[in-house]
Amino acid sequence: MPLSMTKMILCPVCGNKRCPHASDHDLPCTGSNEPGQAGSVYQILELAAKAAAIEYDPSRSKPHPVSGAFWGLWLVIHGEPNEHTRRYWNPLADAGDALRLAVKLRIPVQTDICFKDVSLEKQYAATRRAIVLAAAEIGKAMP
Ligand SMILES: [Zn+2]
Repeated sequence: MPLSMTKMILCPVCGNKRCPHASDHDLPCTGSNEPGQAGSVYQILELAAKAAAIEYDPSRSKPHPVSGAFWGLWLVIHGEPNEHTRRYWNPLADAGDALRLAVKLRIPVQTDICFKDVSLEKQYAATRRAIVLAAAEIGKAMP
């Protein structure tokens, strides 16, 4: 199983998966795990997917109704040889998904001096998050 499928993004304050602060630290922590909160990971990914014309199955992309676990958007892949080629799309957790998103939307990626003294793992995560938030803004501006 790829590492990207084992990561889950949680709010560092309340620990909820659907809290908007989990996907964007500029958004306030709501202390809530209610689905459909503005700015939640799910909504951010939906907007990013819209911007890049990523096709996914919404009915299979929702957070788990009981546990709240959310792994990403369930990709629709045409012409697949078998069911095993299906997978989740989550550029917040998967560097490959994030890079493809940046290239497809021509989002310039530049790491900065402010990353000095920050672990590589955190630099990767911050870069993925920046790409996804930029893509979500593009998706938000689309009709
Ligand atoms: Zn929170």
